Amino acid sequence: MNTLSVLVEGPVFVPGDAGYDTERSGFQLAGQHRPAVIVGATSASDVRTAIRFAAARDLPIAVQATGHGLTAPAQDALLITTHRMSGFRIDPAAGTAWIEAGVRWKAVVDAAAEHGLAPLSGSSPSVGAVSYTLGGGIGVLVRSYGLAADHVRTLEVVTADGEMRQVSAGSDLFWALLGGGNNFGVVTGMEIELVPVSHLFGGTLSFDASIATEVFQAYDQWTSTVPNEITSSAAVVPFPDLPMIPEPVRGREVAQIRIASIADKATTERLVAPLREIGPMLMDTLDALPFTQASSIFTDPPQPHEYYGTGIFLNGLNKSAMQALLELAGKASAVVQLNHLGGAIAGSAPNAIGHRDARYVLRLVSDPGSRALLDGVFAALAPFASGHAMNFMFGPTGADQVRSAFAADTYKRLSALKATYDPANLFRFNNNIIP
Ligand SMILES: Cc1cc2nc3c(=O)[nH]c(=O)nc-3n(C[C@H](O)[C@H](O)[C@H](O)COP(=O)(O)OP(=O)(O)OC[C@H]3O[C@@H](n4cnc5c(N)ncnc54)[C@H](O)[C@@H]3O)c2cc1C
Repeated sequence: MNTLSVLVEGPVFVPGDAGYDTERSGFQLAGQHRPAVIVGATSASDVRTAIRFAAARDLPIAVQATGHGLTAPAQDALLITTHRMSGFRIDPAAGTAWIEAGVRWKAVVDAAAEHGLAPLSGSSPSVGAVSYTLGGGIGVLVRSYGLAADHVRTLEVVTADGEMRQVSAGSDLFWALLGGGNNFGVVTGMEIELVPVSHLFGGTLSFDASIATEVFQAYDQWTSTVPNEITSSAAVVPFPDLPMIPEPVRGREVAQIRIASIADKATTERLVAPLREIGPMLMDTLDALPFTQASSIFTDPPQPHEYYGTGIFLNGLNKSAMQALLELAGKASAVVQLNHLGGAIAGSAPNAIGHRDARYVLRLVSDPGSRALLDGVFAALAPFASGHAMNFMFGPTGADQVRSAFAADTYKRLSALKATYDPANLFRFNNNIIP
């Protein structure tokens, strides 16, 4: 390990070192990494050196930017942390951004907004931009502009053989990385397209969860009527009794409909009107919103904590399936999110993302002790489900779940490319594609 310290610019940690525990920790506090060695990468060159070092010793390799998406904890492995690689630049004339591996969305959202532009970021500004994008990236504007992965121009990646490669549309590695994600190497930087959005009509309609089934049913009917300018989700959130939670929903279980619209105020108000008729509302926050505050529409917790989560694509839902979902989620005290898809996601792009034609993605998050209950929800919804969602599996995942995230022929091609680019499966602490 002493050699490694000399070869890389960034710090190197082994168990027992001051800083080892801080460096291996991230947003997810359950099942954390306990690697044999950590390289705190400061550049693509550090990443390349670390990968060559590990490959020469048959050490498996894990990567961590923020720890939001930890699935398999790294043991007896080399962990590359990327949070020091936090550089990015916006090209306002081209409408693009170059983003390094450790950048969180907030930095890009704030900088792009100065030019009236926005990235296709998600609900939480503290999620890592690169890994979010590699997993598809179902964002605030997904129905209007499509998946984040569909707006990537270039990826810079170091593969398991220690080679640094720049890939773009037409390359098989580019295709595999966008969907198959961290199975194929460490992405050190990416060039993405930004979109011309500075403001939204956004906010949340909140109802008591005692009418959650009515809310979800009305939402399901409503989503079949809305144009692509409207991206939305229905949710059930058990709010804690804490002073920072708005009084009308504090300490209550709440059913919500979250709206992010790029249509004008009058159009948005007209489209949303039927939702306001569902029942008595606890809170209605729909208003003009700078894109920099889009995360206020959602209720993602800002603090690191222990959680288990899973996500599945659905082709629809009937009333009894909704009741089963809400009942089981209630028993698990889970946060439920049903995101409406379709719109600009449809069609094809040069990447391996699965389930483009799904109507919804259902996301469930609870404490790790509720894992069996959450997995039971998916068993109950099997007739409506088309497969799992790579970005929303938080916790250990089985081979069948990963396989189900793709069409059968896509998984076959991914598996063949894994055998080409990572035959020893060095990148295995992830939603693993078996070579
Ligand atoms: C609160 C919350 C809100 C979220 N909201 C959304 C949302 O709105 N839409 C959405 O699509 N997803 C969302 N996600 C899911 C999120 O996009 C994924 O979990 C993503 O993988 C997190 O990336 P990270 O870098 O922050 O986390 P990390 O845990 O650091 O990384 C996640 C995975 O990616 C790998 N990885 C990290 N960096 C690289 C790299 N440079 N090269 C290769 N592999 C790498 C890691 O090895 C790990 O397996 C959310 C997650 C949370 C916890």
